[in-house]
Amino acid sequence: MAAMTEFDRVVTDLLGQHDLRYTVGRRALVKVLRVADRPVTLPELLGLAGDLPQSSAYRNLALLEEAGVVRRLVHGGDHAHYELAESLTEHHHHLICNHCGRVTDMTLSPALEQTLDDSFGSIAEASGFVASSHVIDVYGLCSQCAN
Ligand SMILES: [Zn+2]
Ligand SMILES: [Zn+2]
Repeated sequence: MAAMTEFDRVVTDLLGQHDLRYTVGRRALVKVLRVADRPVTLPELLGLAGDLPQSSAYRNLALLEEAGVVRRLVHGGDHAHYELAESLTEHHHHLICNHCGRVTDMTLSPALEQTLDDSFGSIAEASGFVASSHVIDVYGLCSQCAN
């Protein structure tokens, strides 16, 4: 067996906390999500992964989500999109095309993130709520659909 990378070790630990093993099928899914440059749907994922049966891929995605390895994005389109959890990548936001459903990652500057957290934190605090994170999506038309 090849040496484990730090990334593999973190994923193995997350799965282990849920009594799940980092099987070949799960590795294949994680690899595709790691290489993809944006969140992908299950059909896209299967297309990129090659020869994974759809039923086991779907079940493994659900287990990976449960273990905190994968994040499922539901934006009201025909298909949910999947990406690696932020704990394995970095905090970011999404641009969502209203026409074709394409989802693109968007990273804000640390200064803007700080401003957002400060603002949300103080507004939430006014009602006794302790804010810990935020999700902000931007809807519109992607570059292909806008033209
Ligand atoms: Zn589009
Ligand atoms: Zn943010």
